[in-house]
Amino acid sequence: MARTTLTGHWIRITPAGHVASSLPVAEVGVFQDDAHRHFTPLIDDRRREARDGWKHELISHDEWLQRAQPCLTGQCDHQEPTSA
Ligand SMILES: [Zn+2]
Repeated sequence: MARTTLTGHWIRITPAGHVASSLPVAEVGVFQDDAHRHFTPLIDDRRREARDGWKHELISHDEWLQRAQPCLTGQCDHQEPTSA
């Protein structure tokens, strides 16, 4: 894996559009399945999340600052998720 070029972040987005958590792409790699597996180890949980509309996106650090940081620091306008 070309780790030196991996500077973005995976973000985990609730059905309401809230960024629930993030991981550095350098830790996870560029494949969405791998990212989902890191966030959610159990396949039954991953299937349920996919069905419920959870999403995972790979974004740049600049985009992370705009979209993810407010959510991760509790300063966004999304509704609180009932479970993370
Ligand atoms: Zn939010």
